[in-house]
Amino acid sequence: MLDHDLVARIYVKLPLTDCGECGLPTCREFAEKIVVGEKTVFDCTQLENDIAQEISLMIDEYLR
Ligand code: SF4
Repeated sequence: MLDHDLVARIYVKLPLTDCGECGLPTCREFAEKIVVGEKTVFDCTQLENDIAQEISLMIDEYLR
C-alpha cells in the first residue's frame, strides 16, 4: 500500500514545476513512483544534488 505520508514528505522537496521531463505529468505522480520504486530520484532533471541526496536517504530509511 502506498505510504502517503512519505509521498507528501518527498513531494514538498521536489521543484514543483510539473515540467514533465521525468516522464510523468506532475511532481506529485513522480513522488508516488519513487515510493513504489518505479522511478529513482535521479530521474528528476530539475533537482539539486543535495536535495536528491536527502530524498535518497529518506527512501533508504523507509526501506530499512
Ligand atoms: S522532472 Fe522533476 S520537476 Fe519535472 S515533473 Fe518530474 S519531478 Fe517534477
